[in-house]
Amino acid sequence: MKLFGTMKVNEKGELEIGGCSAIALAKEFGTPLYVMDENLIRENCKQFKKAFAQEGMVTEVIYASKAFLNMAMCRLIQEEGLGLDVVSGGEMYTAFKAGFPMEKVYFHGNNKTEDELEMALTHGVGTIIVDNQHEMKILHGLCNRKNQRIDILLRVNPGIEAHTHAYIQTATHDSKFGESIYDEKLGDIIRFAQTSEYLRLKGFHCHIGSQIFEEKSFYGAVEVMVAFLQQVKEQYGFETEALNLGGGFGIYYSNGDDPVDVEACLSTMLKLLKAGAHTAGIRIPKVMIEPGRAIVGNAGCTLYGVGNVKETYGGKKYVFVDGGMTDNPRTALYGAVYEAGVANRMNAQPEERVTIAGKCCESGDIIIHGIDLPKVQGGDIICVASTGAYNYTMASNYNRIPRPAVVFVKEGKAKIVVKRETYDDVIRNDFAD
Ligand SMILES: *Cc1c(COP(=O)(O)O)cnc(C)c1O
Repeated sequence: MKLFGTMKVNEKGELEIGGCSAIALAKEFGTPLYVMDENLIRENCKQFKKAFAQEGMVTEVIYASKAFLNMAMCRLIQEEGLGLDVVSGGEMYTAFKAGFPMEKVYFHGNNKTEDELEMALTHGVGTIIVDNQHEMKILHGLCNRKNQRIDILLRVNPGIEAHTHAYIQTATHDSKFGESIYDEKLGDIIRFAQTSEYLRLKGFHCHIGSQIFEEKSFYGAVEVMVAFLQQVKEQYGFETEALNLGGGFGIYYSNGDDPVDVEACLSTMLKLLKAGAHTAGIRIPKVMIEPGRAIVGNAGCTLYGVGNVKETYGGKKYVFVDGGMTDNPRTALYGAVYEAGVANRMNAQPEERVTIAGKCCESGDIIIHGIDLPKVQGGDIICVASTGAYNYTMASNYNRIPRPAVVFVKEGKAKIVVKRETYDDVIRNDFAD
């Protein structure tokens, strides 16, 4: 298991994160437990901010909150000075309740409801990323009714194919997100925005996918978008003030993953953009990106208690943990591959290949399909690494399993930021008759 951030193996052979022993954390807070390395999240924020800068350009790093969000995370993002991307009323509400500066919130989504759009206007959301023509008209009507103006970006689909899992590709021609830059109705949309008294079209947004390892995909998106902005200027006289290039920077999960060098990639993107804009004779005063996974993925891990260990008649060895697809559906959903270690015996040598399975009533409830581990026994603590993104936020109550707690660890201290659900939480909204 590759160690990230403040992870290390202490003199007792136990895994330590943020100066806290994983075993002590499991004892104090119970398992399963999401553990987030606060320093690493902050370092990642700082790294993105520092690398995404270029002379003569205003740049902004916006954290894509769907990767991992709660009120403490909003505070952290605010302290680090990033913007916040939300895709639902619930994420927006979390930011609002946490006191996040709403003018730095960007509201995304391919099917925002009228209630959500109204909520964005009421709460002073800074920018709405309009997905399609229909949404633009609804938003115009709402603003008219409320006599309110709003900055918008239009989400466009640049038709770039990034090599990643089909479920997390977002910019193929048939993607559900945005309007294709090749679609003729784009002209109508831009003209509508140009003549609207209420919508201030600042520019465009694109996002080509997630968990992308090929830097070329990002550079390709820059080139296509520059050409698009030039065309929009020539055809409609529309001069872009802002361009949002989305997120999707891949991270290491397991052997063979080769993430992009964030610093080099961001700096090349900006250089290409600057040179491209110059050649095209356009100005792009402001540029944004929206990393999610790359900020939090490696900063989180999940601790599980081992219950039963079982060898099937067919000879397969299972290690059963006290969570599963309820706290990490990514293996079942995308065939994600994780690394893990036995947190109480990190120095023990691997002895056997096992499958780590959860406690849910589904054969697909697997966390890791095959991993070489030391001999695992009931009572061991398993740490699954790099679960910081799209685990907590995708967790469910399937089988009426309460969702785990989340702790931030830093310099030997652990702080609960989301408490563990209880059985009463699980039945909270039920009526017996
Ligand atoms: C999901 C998403 C992101 C973040 O993607 P990551 O792969 O987590 O970096 C950014 N922008 C938009 C519009 C998204 O949908």
